[in-house]
Amino acid sequence: MKAILDHIGIAVADIEKALAFYKDALGLEVEAPEEVATERVRARMVPVGGPSLELLEATAPDSAIASYIAQRGPGIHHVTLRVEDIRAALAQLTSRGVRLVNTEPRTGAGGSLVAFIHPSAAHGVLIELKQRADPDFRFEVKRLAFGDLQLTTLHDGPFRLDGGAMFGVVPRPLWEKLAPPDERNRIPLGMRPLLVEASWGRMIIDCGAGDKMTAKSVEIYGLDRARSLDQALRDARLTSESIDFALATHLHFDHFGGATMRVDGELRPRFSRARYLIRDAEWEDATHPHERNRASYLQGDFVPLRDAGVVDFFSGDSVIKPGVRVERTGGHTGQHQIVYLESGGRTAVFVADLIPTTAHLQDPWVMGYDLFPVDTIVFKKRFIREAIEREYLIFFEHDPKVAAGYIREGNGKRFVEQVL
Ligand SMILES: [Zn+2]
Ligand SMILES: [Zn+2]
Repeated sequence: MKAILDHIGIAVADIEKALAFYKDALGLEVEAPEEVATERVRARMVPVGGPSLELLEATAPDSAIASYIAQRGPGIHHVTLRVEDIRAALAQLTSRGVRLVNTEPRTGAGGSLVAFIHPSAAHGVLIELKQRADPDFRFEVKRLAFGDLQLTTLHDGPFRLDGGAMFGVVPRPLWEKLAPPDERNRIPLGMRPLLVEASWGRMIIDCGAGDKMTAKSVEIYGLDRARSLDQALRDARLTSESIDFALATHLHFDHFGGATMRVDGELRPRFSRARYLIRDAEWEDATHPHERNRASYLQGDFVPLRDAGVVDFFSGDSVIKPGVRVERTGGHTGQHQIVYLESGGRTAVFVADLIPTTAHLQDPWVMGYDLFPVDTIVFKKRFIREAIEREYLIFFEHDPKVAAGYIREGNGKRFVEQVL
């Protein structure tokens, strides 16, 4: 394995006081502050040539940095080595019997993947392995209190679709600056299920593509399963068993493929305790596909759920749970729906394929995949106006970098003020 020194982590009691030495006295450049919620730390990177010094301050008493300082006082906490493929590195170490703190990578600062090797295996040094984030994507798990609801942005990793298909009749010179395509004309996209937690339980809205895709599809769609919903749930300190309800916006594979998984050659519900909430008319369409939508409705994504008796069908626009309401948009599919989350006088909307990314803010910029594009435009036009006026917090399911934000208008132009 090839490894490069990335940074040295230094546990400090007070990051501002530490900067008085590293920044003011030594005169070093310091990067912008970053909070890594999953590790409960605040970090400042201080580049020194190639590698950096990473100043770390605990943000909660149960942070590893807090207990380190309590036991040993401030000082060098860990050494980080950067590797190309962190999973391959962990597999190699496991095969040699090396004791690991994390057998699966977690999300670190800037969306990197990290895992620790136990100090007893590394002669008294805590070694962190790190795989850099892909600059095309930004995947972090972030929690937001929203009235009585807790909203957590999850992800099922990246994928790529044909740029032309993603922007329908819009010519490439207009969209390519907003969504630069790769050499195969594919643009980077994310799959971002949303977790809603409330007194009634935990609901996941959509659940990504999952792990059933064939090698050929993985290649065509540029899936990278190093980042997946399993890992995002781990970052949120949850498992598949933590989910009580899984709500589908529609049954396309990139939205509900993750609802089932293969166990001993058989397809089973992925969230073992969950009820699956599906609009009955969408189910009808998905189980009777035609030439135009057959490639998107993969029967193994949802038929095994009905066979297992875990589906609760609902009809029409409904309140699914207190604070969670669905509304049919049509357009993309005949029964495509968006999800309103309402609490404490505020509204957030999970817009699924109505506005797949922040590059789709113009009313007529709709996907070539849409079955009824004029219906999409009619609904979207009304919805975006309302979203701007009422300041809805919009969750963009397919944006490669922005999980949520407010749509704003200024000087005749629309843009997104990123929140998550
Ligand atoms: Zn879709
Ligand atoms: Zn989609």
